[in-house]
Amino acid sequence: MIAVLREILDDLCEAYRQGGSLVLLFDYDGTLTPIVAHPSLAVLDGETRRRLAALADRPGIYLGILSGRELDELKSLVQLPGIYLAGTGGMELDLRGHRIVHPHAEQMGEVVQRLAARLDEDVAMHHGAWLEKKRLSLTVHYRQLPEQLLGSLQVVVAEAMRDFARQVRLVQGPEAWEIIPANGWNKGTAIRLILADFGAVSDILLYAGDAANDADAIAEVAAMGGITVGIGAEAPPTVTCRLPSQAVLLSFLGALDASLERRRPHVGRASKNYLGLYGYWKSTFPTNPM
Ligand SMILES: [Mg+2]
Repeated sequence: MIAVLREILDDLCEAYRQGGSLVLLFDYDGTLTPIVAHPSLAVLDGETRRRLAALADRPGIYLGILSGRELDELKSLVQLPGIYLAGTGGMELDLRGHRIVHPHAEQMGEVVQRLAARLDEDVAMHHGAWLEKKRLSLTVHYRQLPEQLLGSLQVVVAEAMRDFARQVRLVQGPEAWEIIPANGWNKGTAIRLILADFGAVSDILLYAGDAANDADAIAEVAAMGGITVGIGAEAPPTVTCRLPSQAVLLSFLGALDASLERRRPHVGRASKNYLGLYGYWKSTFPTNPM
């Protein structure tokens, strides 16, 4: 295990032994699963699921998975009860059974559908690229597009987006562009909403992601003094530590589970208190049951 990872492991275990809680948050594609030829093939393997489930089972450990995928799809891929999920880049969340969606999701969804209608044919003309239409966001996938067509696809997408410049923004994903509402919730917002849900006390917050679309989450966790882990070369440069592959993250999760000692049921020792901050978010964005 690399030195910085060993240090993170020791910090997590020490905080946990002293009665602190751990909040472990992960991006999905490229972080918990390898990037594959088609997103439908990115299934969580049994060993990763087993390790995540073992960690989630421990008192005082909160797990969350955040993704650009729609919430229902993410939920069916992950299949882990009792964890937090954020779909559509943070626009919709499953707070351990309680679902919330951005209060203006409907209007934002209409804008996204109008843009989808503009893009549909132009993207289809680029063989190897495809437009994934979701309720609240779009993804232009180009992982199978011949490289010489990438420039042309880029122009088409930029032109279509020009008319929606204030309503949507483009985020770089792994061999894909995610087009999301400009003023909606993002992965960073989703992290605040998750923390607010379980009582706003966290000793150590860790987020792992692999791409530019993790930047909001990484900035949020860094601002809270948390640990940020990048997977691979494309992860934002500001991460605390960078791992070469998902496999290293998986072995880290195994080592963490093995190192944590059983202890008394979690009693929520308030060593760091973010209540003020999260209270603000709760009052600003009232929850909206789906
Ligand atoms: Mg990713």
